[in-house]
Amino acid sequence: MPELPEITVIARQMNKETAGKHVLNIEVKQPKNLNMSVSEFAKMVKGRVVNNVSSKGKWIFVKLEPAYYMLINLGMNADLLYFTPHQKLPDKYQFKLVFTDKTGFTIQFQWFGYIHLVPEKSLNKHKLTAQLGISPIDEEFTLERFKNLLANKKAGIKSFLIDQKNVAGIGNVYIQDILFQAKLHPNRKISTLSEKEITNLYNAIGDILNRAIQLGGLAYEKDFYGQKGKLTINEFLVGYKTEKPCPTCNTPIEKIKTGSTSSYICSKCQPLK
Ligand SMILES: [Zn+2]
Repeated sequence: MPELPEITVIARQMNKETAGKHVLNIEVKQPKNLNMSVSEFAKMVKGRVVNNVSSKGKWIFVKLEPAYYMLINLGMNADLLYFTPHQKLPDKYQFKLVFTDKTGFTIQFQWFGYIHLVPEKSLNKHKLTAQLGISPIDEEFTLERFKNLLANKKAGIKSFLIDQKNVAGIGNVYIQDILFQAKLHPNRKISTLSEKEITNLYNAIGDILNRAIQLGGLAYEKDFYGQKGKLTINEFLVGYKTEKPCPTCNTPIEKIKTGSTSSYICSKCQPLK
């Protein structure tokens, strides 16, 4: 499942290839991904020009001028692939958008995903994106801001961080190494964290996510050019490494149940205080 690093990589590549291009037309094979009829969607999107492409959490924001956003969520897994005029298209796709220079992109969802078109003035009424919390790679995600976010919270730290309404983009993949680097058990209550632990956690979030972005994301997810990322399970510290030695103390890594999710921890480095 793509998380913040994979989506960030795709959005940056999309921005590079599509900014300034005019939409010629679309092809929709699975209308249920859209938030309006295909004909309405086509009418609204044709002729608009991509201003820029950014991301927040697991959502891609394609800003179209004048005054619209195309919001894309790839769901559990999907291929969002760029094409040029002489390139063979993928065998299967559910959505295709072509620009006037005959480049464009296709989307093939494995399960389900969203392609929503929203007027800029009602962006804050788009429920699925308006509720997203702060992006942990944004400049405004400062240590001060993070401390304020955690203040007076009673939840366990893991369930808090993977809730997209608090912080947008961290899921069950990257949370594992974030908590390990910060030496925190997933069930630690936020109210018991010391200043130093919060600082370590803040640094771990930045380190783990930025390293993943630099590596192009996970090895089983494709980027905009169809290239796989370079981050394999071998590169993880503890995530998905049940029984492998902890990189710090050699204790075998355990897989434990934490609420509705699984966690991978070193019980020695991440004790439940
Ligand atoms: Zn350890």
